[in-house]
Amino acid sequence: MRHWLKKFLLLDILRGLRVTFRQQGPRQITTEQYPSDRPFVAERYRGAPRLNINPESNETLCIVCDLCAKACPENLIVVGSERDPVTKHKILTHFTYDLSRCMFCGLCEDACPVDALELTQDFELASFTRQGLVWDRQMLEEGPRPVEFKH
Ligand code: SF4
Ligand code: SF4
Repeated sequence: MRHWLKKFLLLDILRGLRVTFRQQGPRQITTEQYPSDRPFVAERYRGAPRLNINPESNETLCIVCDLCAKACPENLIVVGSERDPVTKHKILTHFTYDLSRCMFCGLCEDACPVDALELTQDFELASFTRQGLVWDRQMLEEGPRPVEFKH
């Protein structure tokens, strides 16, 4: 009888709503003025990937070891190279990173022996197309160009 009364009076729903509204008092609500104010991002947040370059020589830090691609459980990194006929060193020809399949686990950056690949705190990764989520070497080195909103 008590069980049915509880059901009839929707007591569980009312209890749930009480919790909801308790957290929605005007003092609890804050409006972030995004994008003019950047939200706080946790220090260890892993976001947009970046392929670092040497600021002095402007050359990539990547030594084309392929360890990041091998470490990735999603196989979404493709590192292309060719061998310099003179020095016999590998030269990076292309680097693609498919963000649409990335789970930002960080295994690739951990595997990189020279800190060439890094997951940054940039979080604006949206794209209108799937192809737009496949970042090439230029995009990874220069970063996405965010649209600036002005009042
Ligand atoms: S963060 Fe994880 S899923 Fe994304 S590319 Fe790196 S290893 Fe792969
Ligand atoms: S692990 Fe680092 S150095 Fe090796 S291919 Fe990947 S980004 Fe380049």
